[in-house]
Amino acid sequence: MAETPGLPVHDARARILSTHAKIGLHLDYLGYAIRTDDLPLSNSFAALPPDFYTRLMPTPLPAPYFVAASASAAALVGLTPEQLSSPDMVEVFSGNAVAARSLPLSAVYSGHQFGVWAGQLGDGRAILLGELNGPAGPMELQLKGAGLTPYSRMGDGRAVLRSSIREFLCSEAMAALKIPTTRALCIMGSDQPIMRETVETAAVVTRMAPSFVRFGSFEHWYHRDKPERLQQLADYVIATFYPELTGEANPYTALLAEVTKRTARMIAHWQAVGFMHGVMNTDNMSILGLTLDYGPFGFMEAFDPGHICNHTDQQGRYSYANQPQVGHWNCYALGQALMPLIGDVDAAQAALGVYQAEFGATLEYLLHAKLGLQTVQEDDQVLFESLFKLMTAGHVDFTNFFRALGNFTIEPASPGNAVLRDMFIDRESFDAWALRYGARLRQESSIDSERKLAMDAVNPKYVLRNYLAQVAIDKAVNKDFSEIARLLAVLERPFDEQPENQAYAALPPDWASHLEVSCSS
Ligand code: AMP
Ligand code: MG
Repeated sequence: MAETPGLPVHDARARILSTHAKIGLHLDYLGYAIRTDDLPLSNSFAALPPDFYTRLMPTPLPAPYFVAASASAAALVGLTPEQLSSPDMVEVFSGNAVAARSLPLSAVYSGHQFGVWAGQLGDGRAILLGELNGPAGPMELQLKGAGLTPYSRMGDGRAVLRSSIREFLCSEAMAALKIPTTRALCIMGSDQPIMRETVETAAVVTRMAPSFVRFGSFEHWYHRDKPERLQQLADYVIATFYPELTGEANPYTALLAEVTKRTARMIAHWQAVGFMHGVMNTDNMSILGLTLDYGPFGFMEAFDPGHICNHTDQQGRYSYANQPQVGHWNCYALGQALMPLIGDVDAAQAALGVYQAEFGATLEYLLHAKLGLQTVQEDDQVLFESLFKLMTAGHVDFTNFFRALGNFTIEPASPGNAVLRDMFIDRESFDAWALRYGARLRQESSIDSERKLAMDAVNPKYVLRNYLAQVAIDKAVNKDFSEIARLLAVLERPFDEQPENQAYAALPPDWASHLEVSCSS
């Protein structure tokens, strides 16, 4: 996409709003309902100079209705699902009303998409309402799908119900899997038709994170050759989210090292649960190391390291096996953008150099836990690699295999071992692997029952399989939102057995083999 310098003011409302803001008056939003006490919002990002964003109002949707809310996300900002389903909140979180102290804005950023410099992107359909202070500290609330912004480019500023449900469920599922992620507070829907491959309907999903600043936010000022803006952004991020780095000799180098570390750790966690992001463009990489921008993501089912979850990604740049190296590449893009502040190539290289070690150590730790191993031994890599080779050859379901591995017994072999064996086509090869695994466990005097407990706490039984999301979506399209709530409840306890919800751990049905997810959302 071409860059668009000198953005026009969005529309008359935004102009008036920014005038109001300048004179410290933002209570009269031209006919928008004002809610005073319920949402005591502030907005630290808005304190940055005005060329970091455009102040604007969300575009109202006709007759909005409540679709879903996450109780655990709501609790982080001191709210409840009951409050969120009240008429006032439906108005606020569909973009039809603005809370009194909100300073809504869309942020500008740029980025590399599929490895190519894409120029200016920005919040094309996201509007930051401000932050709420809760038990977890300040959390920014952002509407996604709230209408056109100056950064919408060819888009319509909207999100469809389908993709909003996917983002909502996966954000909350990832949080329950203890993987760093942005959160999802609620979804509001409307019957307004939205054109995608077919006609769908509109929704707004409210996301939460301490910050939505991306690698691309830094790249933006680097490529615009605006070092003072770059520094303002870096200083804001460090002061607000990495205050411990302020005392470092060069806090910007320290920031690069810390973000690189967090990114490496996050991706190691993705690999360990078989999560595939699908669009790891630098504008979708969080400066806080959070999983950000859920679109054509997927969870690995039949194991295949080359699996591509995003139908639009024909080259497989963002395949499961490529994620770790793409994460590192993205950190390089951030490092490049920070160079005017770091000033020393060797220092930047050293900061970026922490990636491999951090990724390797985290993944090794997680794989040991997945296999129930308490000690680290020289040949463990071989044990892991031979297992993944067998799983690939046998198209073994990633989640179900690791969950079932918790039932492995050293001796005598129990029915659990036979269940595992039956998951493989080449059973003799699995027998050989199981023999090694058993010997390895015996070496550290592993106790079956204790190991199972530890393994069940790290190998989820329930993940957001595409078909599970699709069932919830199909019902929601017919105005039955009950399955979203049910599925959310299952995914909030991914490590619990939940015998009554056994069906949610089932392999995808035949109809699901035709499911395709793409960038269209
Ligand atoms: P994504 O690949 O979803 O992270 O989006 C890349 C860029 O496209 C971002 O700047 C988004 O804000 C923008 N974008 C995606 N979908 C839309 C849409 N429907 N309307 C406006 N902008 C969009
Ligand atoms: Mg994005």
